[in-house]
Amino acid sequence: MTERVLVVEDNPASLEMMRDWLVLQDYEVETASTLSDAMASIEKAGPDIVLLDIRLGAEDGLSLAEWLRRHPAWRHTPVIAVTAHAMVTEQERILEAGCNACISKPIEFRLLQDHLRKWLVIATLMKSTDGSLASPHQPSLSQTKGAEHAEQDPRG
Ligand code: MN
Repeated sequence: MTERVLVVEDNPASLEMMRDWLVLQDYEVETASTLSDAMASIEKAGPDIVLLDIRLGAEDGLSLAEWLRRHPAWRHTPVIAVTAHAMVTEQERILEAGCNACISKPIEFRLLQDHLRKWLVIATLMKSTDGSLASPHQPSLSQTKGAEHAEQDPRG
């Protein structure tokens, strides 16, 4: 099955370069250059992985990562952040926002390929082991704990 990559990048030259490389690697590629385009593309196409430029013009690319992590259907979709500034503080902020990995520009494509393969495999495992994807009405943690407690109590 062809894996689908969404590239979110506001610089047209960078976007074209990433798309061309991904197509050569046999990925199916969607592109977006704004947050709203990216969200629309995700809702429509459900990509397997997202490559996310952190500096999207005036927009903060990380809000897309945060949105994905809160979304019931897309919360396991891996996000690889792409940033010109790979400073430690920046990386912390990127990972805290929900990105799975961070690579810096100029992109080292062998490293990108390693990240893509790794996170696509992990995402497949996450989906197959997480029953809540099939059932959106999973009980909350406190409800689950209460149920376990009741079962353990012979008088209950
Ligand atoms: Mn940018």
